[in-house]
Amino acid sequence: ATPLALIRGGGKAANHGILMRSGDAFQIFPDVDRIVLDKTGTITVGEPAVSEVVAFDGTEDDVLAVAASAEAFSEHPLADAILDRADERGVAYADPEAFDSVTGKGVRATVDGDDVLVGKPGWLADEGIDLSSVVDEIERLQHRGLTVSAVVRDGDLVGLIGIGDEIKVDAAATVRRMHDAGITPVMITGDNERTAEAVAEEVGIDRVMADVLPDEKREEIGRLQDEGHRVAMVGDGINDAPALTQADIGIAIGAGTDIAIESADIVLMGDRLGGVMDAHEIGRESYRKTR
Ligand code: ADP
Ligand code: MG
Repeated sequence: ATPLALIRGGGKAANHGILMRSGDAFQIFPDVDRIVLDKTGTITVGEPAVSEVVAFDGTEDDVLAVAASAEAFSEHPLADAILDRADERGVAYADPEAFDSVTGKGVRATVDGDDVLVGKPGWLADEGIDLSSVVDEIERLQHRGLTVSAVVRDGDLVGLIGIGDEIKVDAAATVRRMHDAGITPVMITGDNERTAEAVAEEVGIDRVMADVLPDEKREEIGRLQDEGHRVAMVGDGINDAPALTQADIGIAIGAGTDIAIESADIVLMGDRLGGVMDAHEIGRESYRKTR
């Protein structure tokens, strides 16, 4: 039979907007020593917006127009940010003639007969684009915690778009609760190292796994487990589902995607990151009562 304290814990959790999808998540949680947090949508609010456009060819609006055309068919949040800014500024852009999304890297499209790439600088460098003259500019934006999308047309860099995403109001306090509980928080993201570290520093996280491709997140969790850690993973996206399944405890946050929710042991209603540590404390409480 299920111990009464666990049932009671489940009720208390529900009152906190915490849904237990697996019976033993509460029992495992007190033994967790690493909590891996996805950056976008978990630590940040997940509504990226353009904060700066740097033009090397033409005006800032010209850069937005090329980028918006290339991103018009993309479903990535960064694409939404670019399209929203173009719309706000009344910049006209056409649908691309051809479009291909490169997962975790960016998009490749044909716009007005030109080959256009929009995406992370590291990917464009791999594609043979020389970014050496703008490295300082890219780093300046990344140090501000912005994600940089470089815009390239027929092999020439036309501009940079710096996109920011606000940090959740309770993120720093929740990270402090993790440290106080003896748990090491780790940020995981497909974003670059500098941007990730700027965000991590702002919330008090010392460990960062950056430039992780969507299908590598699961392996990174497995690696921590191989080192002997008990790992909880918190995420919201489709990309996060395999990692949520791999973790000792998978926690889906916010509205999340259905697939993230189905892969999770614990579902947090609402966007508060604090729900992670509420669940930890309720788990510790009810587990203690059963011994
Ligand atoms: P995250 O793990 O932060 O959700 P993703 O794995 O979706 O990020 O993408 C990793 C990185 O690839 C992004 O930070 C961005 O630099 C780049 N990227 C991916 N898709 C796009 C896109 N449609 N437009 C521009 N950049 C993109
Ligand atoms: Mg994501």
